[in-house]
Amino acid sequence: MQIRLEELKQGTLSLKFEEPPETFAVLTEMIDSGACEFIGPITAALRAQQIGAMIEVTGDVATQVRLTCGRCLQGFETPLKSSFTLAYTQAEPDPEPSVSRQEELELTAEDTGLIYYQGEKINLKNEIQEQVVLAFPLRVLCRPDCRGLCPQCGADLNTGDCNCDRSPPAGKFAALKNLKL
Ligand SMILES: [Zn+2]
Ligand SMILES: [Zn+2]
Repeated sequence: MQIRLEELKQGTLSLKFEEPPETFAVLTEMIDSGACEFIGPITAALRAQQIGAMIEVTGDVATQVRLTCGRCLQGFETPLKSSFTLAYTQAEPDPEPSVSRQEELELTAEDTGLIYYQGEKINLKNEIQEQVVLAFPLRVLCRPDCRGLCPQCGADLNTGDCNCDRSPPAGKFAALKNLKL
């Protein structure tokens, strides 16, 4: 998962990677903790281009995972996809690295979104991993209108209605209706 800068001299570079999720430390942690199960490899399709002193990398990462719905607790499979654009610039070799200089560099990188690289290649592993993590949904639902479980009998309401009365208890909320604001 690297771009060798000498390969960029011919202009635009297209790259494809396919890696098992276990290649990435954070994804391995997610697997070990049971947060998700990866069904396919992590695939990345990238294009790198030199623009002046900057190297722009655009690409897509994709994979297939098995998650547990937060509402009905059923496992389901879903694709994860993320598109991104990253900008790299070479870190200037600093003859006398000082704390203030270091801070200055970090601030600039934060302001501009530039990522510094050193040497003759750019390692994309961390960025690819980050994109996979960002592709996870914030709320894990098997489908947007998942009806979840009945709070009384635990039946999966997606597979049919149970016979419980789930109308909200009258007392507490009925009183709110009479509130005059
Ligand atoms: Zn569900
Ligand atoms: Zn029920």
